Amino acid sequence: AGKLYVVATPIGNLEDITQRALNVLRDVDFIAAEDTRNAQKLLQHYGIQKKCFAYHDHNESNQTPAVIKQLQDGLNIALISDAGTPLINDPGYRLVSQCRQQGLQVVPVPGACAIIAALSAAGVATDQFYFGGFLPAKSQARQSILARLSEQVATAVFYESTHRIIASLKDIQLTLGADKKVVIGRELTKTFETFYTNTVENVLEWMQGDHNQQKGEFVVIIEGAEKLTEVDAKCIKLLESLRPHMP
Ligand code: SAM
Repeated sequence: AGKLYVVATPIGNLEDITQRALNVLRDVDFIAAEDTRNAQKLLQHYGIQKKCFAYHDHNESNQTPAVIKQLQDGLNIALISDAGTPLINDPGYRLVSQCRQQGLQVVPVPGACAIIAALSAAGVATDQFYFGGFLPAKSQARQSILARLSEQVATAVFYESTHRIIASLKDIQLTLGADKKVVIGRELTKTFETFYTNTVENVLEWMQGDHNQQKGEFVVIIEGAEKLTEVDAKCIKLLESLRPHMP
């Protein structure tokens, strides 16, 4: 049987693609792409001529059996999305899980991913992080997800779009407080790459004061809740030990 290669592509800067990814894209029989026109742009840039077919959220249930059949027939296929790593808030989950169920080999070809790029340069704790994908479009749903972060020590990371960045920041302020530290990673690897770190209140003020800062693609990083200090932990332990003796 053939192999399914899950290939990461750039998130902005076309040079952010590995040598191995280029070799795989050159060598496979077909490329399954979220958007074939986008894929052609990337392939053209690297002088690769390859047949692409569309594999996206709206046709994946139809396309998956056909792709599985091609793999079973011995063809090698690469899966790519519009930017970054497939399956990370991008199509491919259904295909990869089906391949796994059928015992077909799935090979990751790692590379760019916006969350990892943002975390790697933000200057916040990265030993633990929670990735929440896109925040919900509706404010109430968004607030209930954000409220759950209030005691979470791990750094939280979300994708956000230009249409909702202000509304989401307002909800962060409302649920986690004006002093919550936030890092905005905007247009990463592109011409207008911007990192901005401040309390959510100040981030909002800065962004509302400069409309250009509201444009493009965003990663929003929210600092985790404070870790208990040793003294806090000792106090809690002491309280726990006293509890049985309390009336
Ligand atoms: N699979 C992609 C990855 O590995 O990063 C993510 C796909 S998701 C549909 C697209 C979102 O990722 C954008 O709305 C934005 O929040 C984020 N994103 C992608 N490229 C970015 C960039 N260059 N700078 C900042 N955020 C980016």
